[in-house]
Amino acid sequence: MKSKSKDLKKNASAKKASLGRVLKKNEKIKETVKEAASELTSVNEVLKQEKIPVQVIKQALTKNEDVEQKVAKAADDLKLVNAKLAKELADRIVIESELADTKTDLAEVRDDLSKAQVEKEDAQQIALQDAHTGLPNRVSFEQGLEHGLSQAKRHGWGLAVLFIDIDKFKRINDSYGHDVGDQVLLMVANRLKSFVRDEDMVSRWGGDEFVCLLFEVKQEADVTRLAEKMINQIAEDCEFNGTILSIKASIGIAIYPTDGETADILFKNADTAMYKAKGSKKRVVLFREAGVRKAD
Ligand code: GH3
Ligand code: MG
Repeated sequence: MKSKSKDLKKNASAKKASLGRVLKKNEKIKETVKEAASELTSVNEVLKQEKIPVQVIKQALTKNEDVEQKVAKAADDLKLVNAKLAKELADRIVIESELADTKTDLAEVRDDLSKAQVEKEDAQQIALQDAHTGLPNRVSFEQGLEHGLSQAKRHGWGLAVLFIDIDKFKRINDSYGHDVGDQVLLMVANRLKSFVRDEDMVSRWGGDEFVCLLFEVKQEADVTRLAEKMINQIAEDCEFNGTILSIKASIGIAIYPTDGETADILFKNADTAMYKAKGSKKRVVLFREAGVRKAD
């Protein structure tokens, strides 16, 4: 496409140069005709005089014949110039229509490119999103955790990983149907989201498991308090297809740097703390208080 438009441009500039030559020729013919006209005028002036000598008439006749030849040559040249101009015109029409075609082709290519860009962005968005809840998915969470950790290390911030799992979710599916189970997952996603700041992240790990990342943690006690509020909020009665349910969940917490210094260890320890929470009356467990040896 690019080389086609380059060729067209080259062609168009060659045509411009050749048109320039034809117009120059036209100018020359005009000059010749002007000269001939003024020569005729001066001959006429001479012939108007009274008692003109024969010699002068002879000269005037010769001059007139010269002028006649000049005019005849100019007429021939003019014919040539007109033929060239007609050809230039035809060529110009062809080039302009080719240019118009190229413009249309370029516009189509541009449209295709922007469509491909939108599709690529959609695909990237889909690849990072959980289809059911619209939350960031596992891949997105892993990226967020790595990025958050590098920021926390650089600035000396704390970073909390909260692993949230719905209690006896299978029973909800079995008792009320998969559709109600889906609605429960959505409700939990929305309630979790309402707790965190815009810069924090709630993601769906899979099934009935969610992971929350809190960046820039200043007071570790605030994290446990927030997790308890989450549990209470999730447990508030909610109606699903005419059935009122109270959803219980458990949360395990691991905070960088005390409960782990790498993404893997923090995630693993938050998961372990969550299982500790499930096995105890406490619904929220901080890893270091779980009585489990720190993973390394
Ligand atoms: P626990 O208290 O130990 O967490 O038990 P649980 O029943 O919550 O956990 P379990 O892992 O046994 O069950 C999770 C269930 O979630 C199993 C699976 O069928 C269901 N599930 C996974 N993804 C979806 C989903 O997208 N929609 C619905 N409705 N159910 C799902
Ligand atoms: Mg569960």
